Amino acid sequence: MGIELSTEESLGGLQGKTPTITTICSHSSLQIFHGARVEKFRTLGVAEGHPPRFYDAFPLAKPDEFLVLPKFSQIARHEKRLRESASVIVPTGSFVEYVGPAVFNQLRIPVFGNRRVMEWESDREKERIWLEGAGVAMPRKYRSIDEVDGPVIVKYYGAKGGRGFILAKDRKDLESVEIKGPHVIQQYVIGTRYYIHFFYSPLKESGYRVGHGSLELLGMDRRDEANIDELYKLGSQEKLLRSGIRPTFVVTGNVAVVLRESLLPQVFEIGERIIEKSIELFGGMVGPFCVEGIMTEELEFKVFEISTRIVAGTNLFIRGSPYSDMLAPELSTGRRIAQELRQAMDEERLTEVLS
Ligand code: ATP
Repeated sequence: MGIELSTEESLGGLQGKTPTITTICSHSSLQIFHGARVEKFRTLGVAEGHPPRFYDAFPLAKPDEFLVLPKFSQIARHEKRLRESASVIVPTGSFVEYVGPAVFNQLRIPVFGNRRVMEWESDREKERIWLEGAGVAMPRKYRSIDEVDGPVIVKYYGAKGGRGFILAKDRKDLESVEIKGPHVIQQYVIGTRYYIHFFYSPLKESGYRVGHGSLELLGMDRRDEANIDELYKLGSQEKLLRSGIRPTFVVTGNVAVVLRESLLPQVFEIGERIIEKSIELFGGMVGPFCVEGIMTEELEFKVFEISTRIVAGTNLFIRGSPYSDMLAPELSTGRRIAQELRQAMDEERLTEVLS
């Protein structure tokens, strides 16, 4: 499944060895290392500057070894060392961001999941082609300000963590703000946010069958976003704007949620269609992914984003979630990744889960 790497190259370091589950010391690393340890894998944490001290507070999630780099982006210089440890990288949002997409893509170290998904996720246009092609409802996209007929959110390309997004109640409101740089104008969907943690196993032959494998629901969260979530306490947005205070969507934490049970079939169908389309477009997604959307009062789930790897909201569920508890006890997403890797090893099907 690798873009540039042959199967032989990407799996080369693994022949005859037990993999070491490797990720950078950030994001969901505690969960990934904890889950790997429960499933009897060795673990390696890639750190910048020095090994972070906070692992000392969580001995069951502390990696067995550290690879300390002056800069994360220098990781490619240490491929030999990583291959000697038979590293399998579990990518996270932080991994891709700190290492950089280009370095990440070319790393000659096996990565859990299909690297090709990145080009479809990171480009908002391609993401829309994928999701709308899958028949998933998304917020309307306006081609120009003249088309705007309701509340909108303006997203700058490459804006990390929703910084600098603009909210406007209507076209008049939008016309009064200056939009700087490449952006997309999207319908602001009014409803309740849900971030749905799915896991797609191409290996599993039971459960909710999709493609040749099985789709699992491991949990759900809602993000705490600063400053938008608490801004209302200071008064109306109009008044705040006059004081130069604008809403931002920087994630600061997560809270657990469950969805009304009658809405589960709808979100499973969305997950299923996204997987089927991914198989058609780029050979499929493997492992964890998160569908991020808003349930409207008409009970229609509108998807504004997909994250195609483990999301930090899964950190809520180290001991399992209300959903994963019905699959297996104490099943975190990190542990589920380790289980999938173990099954792939046992069945000699590593090329189906690594790239
Ligand atoms: P990140 O990289 O952290 O995922 P991002 O820059 O890709 O963020 P989005 O995930 O698209 O940005 O949006 C950030 C936040 O803005 C969402 O979590 C949600 O609260 C809000 N949001 C995004 N799109 C919409 C929408 N169409 N309607 C209402 N709220 C939205």
